[in-house]
Amino acid sequence: MSVDVNEDISESTGTGRPDFDVVVVGAGMAGLYLLYRLRHLGLSAVALEAADDVGGTWYWNRYPGARCDIQSIDYSYSFDPELESEWEWSEKYATQPEILRYLQFVADKHDLRRDIRFSTRVGAAKWDDASSMWRVRTDAGAEVTCRHYVMATGCLSMPKGPEIRGAERFAGPVYFTSRWPHDGVDFTGLRVGVIGTGSSGIQSIPIIASQASELTVFQRTPNFSMPAGNGPIPEQKLAAIAADPEAYRREARLSGAGVPMPKPTVGALQVSEAERLEAFERVWRQGELLAVNSEFNDLSIRREANDTFAEFIRNKIRSTVHDRETAETLCPTDHPVGSKRPCLDTNYYETFNLPHVRLVDLRKDPISTITETGIDTSNESFEFDVIVYATGFDAMTGALVAVDIEGRDGVTLKDKWAAGPRTYLGLTTVGFPNFFMVTGPGSPSVLSNMVVSIEQHVDWITDCVSDLRDRGYTTIEPTETAEAGWVQHVNDCADITLFPSANSWYMGANVPGKPRVFLPYVGGVGPYRITCDRVVDEGYLGFRLAGDAGTQCHDGVVNRLQPDVAMLLQTLAELGLPPLESLPVPEARAFNEAISAQRPPGPEVGDVADGTLPGAEGELNYRIYRPATPGPHPIVVYFHGGGWVLGSHVSDEPLCRDLCVRSGALIVSVDYRHGPETRFPAAANDAIAAVYWVAANAESLGGAPGGLAVAGWSAGGNLAAVACQQARWAGEPEIVGQLLIAPATDGASEWPSMAENAEGYALTASLMDWFWNNYADPADRSDAKASPLRAESLAGLPRAAIFTCEFDPLRDEGDAYAAALVAAGVDVEHVQCRGHIHTSLHAVDVIISGAPLRARMAAAIQGFFRSPNAT
Ligand SMILES: Cc1cc2nc3c(=O)[nH]c(=O)nc-3n(C[C@H](O)[C@H](O)[C@H](O)COP(=O)(O)OP(=O)(O)OC[C@H]3O[C@@H](n4cnc5c(N)ncnc54)[C@H](O)[C@@H]3O)c2cc1C
Repeated sequence: MSVDVNEDISESTGTGRPDFDVVVVGAGMAGLYLLYRLRHLGLSAVALEAADDVGGTWYWNRYPGARCDIQSIDYSYSFDPELESEWEWSEKYATQPEILRYLQFVADKHDLRRDIRFSTRVGAAKWDDASSMWRVRTDAGAEVTCRHYVMATGCLSMPKGPEIRGAERFAGPVYFTSRWPHDGVDFTGLRVGVIGTGSSGIQSIPIIASQASELTVFQRTPNFSMPAGNGPIPEQKLAAIAADPEAYRREARLSGAGVPMPKPTVGALQVSEAERLEAFERVWRQGELLAVNSEFNDLSIRREANDTFAEFIRNKIRSTVHDRETAETLCPTDHPVGSKRPCLDTNYYETFNLPHVRLVDLRKDPISTITETGIDTSNESFEFDVIVYATGFDAMTGALVAVDIEGRDGVTLKDKWAAGPRTYLGLTTVGFPNFFMVTGPGSPSVLSNMVVSIEQHVDWITDCVSDLRDRGYTTIEPTETAEAGWVQHVNDCADITLFPSANSWYMGANVPGKPRVFLPYVGGVGPYRITCDRVVDEGYLGFRLAGDAGTQCHDGVVNRLQPDVAMLLQTLAELGLPPLESLPVPEARAFNEAISAQRPPGPEVGDVADGTLPGAEGELNYRIYRPATPGPHPIVVYFHGGGWVLGSHVSDEPLCRDLCVRSGALIVSVDYRHGPETRFPAAANDAIAAVYWVAANAESLGGAPGGLAVAGWSAGGNLAAVACQQARWAGEPEIVGQLLIAPATDGASEWPSMAENAEGYALTASLMDWFWNNYADPADRSDAKASPLRAESLAGLPRAAIFTCEFDPLRDEGDAYAAALVAAGVDVEHVQCRGHIHTSLHAVDVIISGAPLRARMAAAIQGFFRSPNAT
């Protein structure tokens, strides 16, 4: 099938026009669909493919046992409804030969081969700025030019070398799972060594064991694997698709991982142990990688929840593998389940019960060298007839940087990505105009059913190219701002999960010297698709277009909210809750309490006690949260949020618990009188009275001598700031620090953030207005007791830690207070919380991305109690 490349593609037209609208590299699943789509859009295209046939992954990976591990019926194209009825999968998880036949069938059905040049490896590609085209060179020296250049080179197509000393010395046959001989390998009667226990190792080991006379498996890191339960396609699945094929595919496209799955509403730790184990058993029997995430919603974000599933799998391994030591060696303990690619297997663990199969733990007994006749570990010499390497891939970036791709100003992709890949949407990268990647780093790719991701990328790229053509634009390139924003967003998403805690190929950790960067996008294929579509709908947000039609650049960042904040806001929007300000005050309070009752409770503290204290005019309730450590402890007097209208001394319980545990301080959460029943300055006066009382009774409450700190969120932040000012003017009590979380500091001005963030971010401008109206008359709002920013002087106030949130109507007044304190010579730690909303920092165990910020609050509290000169 090899074609003379020189004859076919080196004929540059010499007209200044490129040879093709689009050159595609790769003829796997992505390359095939690209050709199909480009042709239907009337764009000229050629695909250059190193192999001598189509198939990509399924062309190269012919090792025994190779199968998909997303159900075949899901792991299928959806672009051609006819194809769906023409092709019938024989099994739940199809074998490599069947998937390859499927891709060949697609290529033939749509006559795609005529636009593919096989046995053609692309070695270099260079952007020619003068003519706005790419010059693509093959290893054989042929050149082809194109307007747009698409790398459809696959995430898992660049095999990783063995990187073991002496690898070249072995005299017998050596096989790589990713480059398996086309006519197969017969291991009958042979002594075989297999290195690697990732997905390919786990799939091939049982079959190699069934033929070999002796099999030794060298394992560096054990992986979590579950039984595939292969067999006929489950009836339920067939029925779901038959009922409404289009709806089924649509659901897949909008799902988290590209397969329709129920969305769980509970966490693994929110149910009893019996219920949890029953759910895990269901998952185990179901034999579907993604099933576990349909049972519980916290396995990929909460370590303790994940541990329960990890232990369940370890117990399965222990009950399957007879030899105790071997079983323990097979039990993964160094990473959460799912943080490395989990596997599906057929009799993998059972294989280690066979008398001729042995497991070597390379962490205890590492390979020292490969010899002419086998493998030497530090403790033993092994003789083999054959060695099999199942050592995986230089994933996601390997095939991209293997081509010498040179963009604008001579910068190569490899150099640009030396510290890790930077992309916009995983589709494009700054400095490389008209260059696209299918399932590139920064897109859901390997964390999804890849057919769904491939189709989405191909649709986006081809729609974009034809749109540019139709509108008279020749080039498209992302902006620095958009790319930096996307890289940040990809990291923000990863950071709230357990993924970065594992040394996985998702992190580049399997390739020596590769930067440790989380490569795929964990935000989910549905949200990702919506984001990509929004970019187009907003006039190619973050892209610069140029051509005969002129230039266009709508610069900006597409997803600026923290990912969990965005999810929370979406959930709130779906609930369609009434605006609080539309309710009478008692109903608003009852509603607020009902919502609060459903929150996670916050962490365990040493002790919780309730009491009353004298307020400015009558008793006030308080609740004390004591650390579990022996006292006395530093004391923080805390004021709750709720706009001086809602809430009580217990309404910020999760936050108080969290601050107590993290800081080791005793938190006294104090109530105060609320509007509209008792208006300004009642709440402020109560706050001041409470601070006096706690200071006077510090010792009996279990507090350490030497002053106290105050803290508060929202309206409580306002009261904490007011209490500090009043204490300073009165000369007592001694306040060593003030922690102000998204505080209201100025009710008398119109700050831009009040308009900018007026709606859509939980606290609205109209709710804030309602709060102020219930609390203080307009004439009173200039009083420093209502608006601490309006105080005549802020000099001499205690140290402050001020946390303001980017998408909070109160952001600017909080920022202004921090700036004013600094100007007055106060020691201020001002933390501007990127991508957060007013309620983010308060939502303990709901907004995971708020946790590091609360850790900073706790550190600030600890800092308040250190002497200013201490380091
Ligand atoms: C063993 C294995 C099992 C998998 N199972 C699943 C699964 O169950 N579900 C799932 O969603 N995903 C699975 N994957 C991921 C799989 O790679 C994708 O699902 C999909 O097949 C990728 O298609 P692609 O066209 O993007 O890339 P590939 O299939 O990798 O094709 C890329 C092609 O580009 C060619 N190429 C690369 N560089 C060059 C160059 N410089 N010049 C010319 N040609 C080049 C390669 O030869 C290759 O043919 C699996 C991967 C492996 C390795």
